[in-house]
Amino acid sequence: MDLFYTPEDEAFRAQVRAWLAENLPRRRLETLEEQRAWQRKLHEAGYLGMGWPVEYGGQNARPMEQAIVGEELARVNAPGAVGGLGVSIVGPTLIHHGTEAQKQRFVKNILNAEEIWCQLYSEPNSGSDLASLRTRAEIVGDEFVINGQKVWNSGAHRSDWGLLLARTDPDAPKHLGISCILVDMHSPGVEVRPLKQISGSSEFCEVFFSDVRVPLDNLVGELNRGWQIAQTTLSYERGGNTMSRVSRQLATFQRLLEVAGALRRDGTRVIDNPVVRQKLGRMYTEIEVLRYGSLRILSAAEKGQRPGPESSVTKLYYSELDKRQQELIQEILGPYGQLIEGQPAEYALDSDADYGESGSWAYAFAWSRAGTIYAGSSEIQKNIIGERVLGLPKEIRVDRIEAQQAAQAGRAGNGAG
Ligand SMILES: Cc1cc2nc3c(=O)[nH]c(=O)nc-3n(C[C@H](O)[C@H](O)[C@H](O)COP(=O)(O)OP(=O)(O)OC[C@H]3O[C@@H](n4cnc5c(N)ncnc54)[C@H](O)[C@@H]3O)c2cc1C
Repeated sequence: MDLFYTPEDEAFRAQVRAWLAENLPRRRLETLEEQRAWQRKLHEAGYLGMGWPVEYGGQNARPMEQAIVGEELARVNAPGAVGGLGVSIVGPTLIHHGTEAQKQRFVKNILNAEEIWCQLYSEPNSGSDLASLRTRAEIVGDEFVINGQKVWNSGAHRSDWGLLLARTDPDAPKHLGISCILVDMHSPGVEVRPLKQISGSSEFCEVFFSDVRVPLDNLVGELNRGWQIAQTTLSYERGGNTMSRVSRQLATFQRLLEVAGALRRDGTRVIDNPVVRQKLGRMYTEIEVLRYGSLRILSAAEKGQRPGPESSVTKLYYSELDKRQQELIQEILGPYGQLIEGQPAEYALDSDADYGESGSWAYAFAWSRAGTIYAGSSEIQKNIIGERVLGLPKEIRVDRIEAQQAAQAGRAGNGAG
C-alpha cells in the first residue's frame, strides 16, 4: 500500500466540508421532489459521477477525490442520492457498453435525477444463481416482447427506467442466452408491486412484465452477451470505495459512545460497565481493520487497478461487521435500542430527531441484514474468495449432485421397467 494525503487532497477535503456546512439539508427530505433537488445540488457541485469522463457530466476525478467526498458525506450522515442506483450502476454500465446514442440520451438525466433507474436482475428462483433467470425477451419485428417476473427491485415503484436482464436465447447454455435491455417503466404491461420489509419501509418491489414492447435500440452491448455486462455492473456494486462505510461506522460509533455515556443502568453509566467497554474496544478495532482494508483497495485504484475478486474480501468483511456491530449495539442499549418512535433525544441514533437518514437504532439493526444478501450474499462471497482468491477447488453443488443422482435413478428405473 502506498497512500498519503497530499496538500491538494487536504485542500479538497476542506472545500467539500465547507460546501456541506453550507448546503447540507437541515431536515429529513420527505418528498421525491426534495430528494431530486438534493441530488441536483450534489451534481452541480461536482460530487456525483465524479470518476466519469467529462463529456458525460463527470469530472475524471481520481479515486482519492471520490473517496474524500464519500467520506465527508458519510461523516455528516448526508442523505443519499435518490437516483443512486442509476449513478452507481447504470451510468458506468452505459459508459462502458452503451452506444453513443444511448449515452447521449440517458447519462445526463441519470446525474441530474431527471430520470430514476432501478435494477431488474433477480427473480423468484434466480438470485445467487442469476444465470438461471427465466424472464423472456423475444424479438418480434423491431421490438423485444418481454414476459416474466422480477423481485427485490429497489426503488422500482418510483423509477422511470429499468436495467433488465432477460433471456433472449432459451436454447443456448444459460450464461450465453441473456441480454441486457433498457426498459421504460411507464410502458404498457409493466406492473410494479411494492413489498413491505422487516424494517417497516417498502423500498423493494416485485415487477411483472406482460407483453411489454421495447425497441431493439434499447439493447445494451451485443445480443446474448448480457451476462458479461452484468459482471461489470456487479463489480461496481461491490465497489472499491468503502472509505465512506468506514466514516459511517465511525459516526455511529461516536454516537453510541455519547448515548452509552448518558444512559444509566443499575445506578451507573452504561459506558462505565467493564464488559461494555471491552465490547466498545472490539467494535473500534474492527472499524480500524475495515479502514486498512479499504485503504488497500483505494491505493490499488489510485494506481489504475480495477477491483478484482479481492473486493469480495471487503464486501464480506463490512457487511458481516455491520451485522455484528448492530447486534452489540442492541445488547449495549437494551430496550432503548428497540424503540422505533418516541426515543428520548439523548438516547436516539440521530440526536436531532428532525434530521438524519439512518432513522432509529432499531431500523439500523434490521437494515444490517441487507448487506449480507445484496450484491452477492456472504456465502457467495466466501465461494468467490475460496475459488478465485485462494485457488481452492470449485464448490460442490449439492443440488446438482442430487439432480444427477435423480437422473441416474430415473434411467435405472426405466431400464428395469
Ligand atoms: C437490500 C437489497 C437490495 C436489493 N436490490 C436489488 C435490486 O435492486 N435489483 C435486483 O435485481 N435484486 C436486488 N436484490 C436481490 C439480491 O440480489 C438477491 O436477494 C441476492 O442475489 C440473493 O438471492 P436470493 O434472495 O434469491 O437468495 P438465494 O440465492 O435463494 O439464497 C438463499 C440462501 O442460500 C445461500 N446460497 C445460495 N447459493 C449458494 C451457494 N452456491 N453456496 C452457498 N450458499 C448459497 C445464500 O447465501 C442465501 O443464504 C436486493 C437484495 C437486498 C437484500
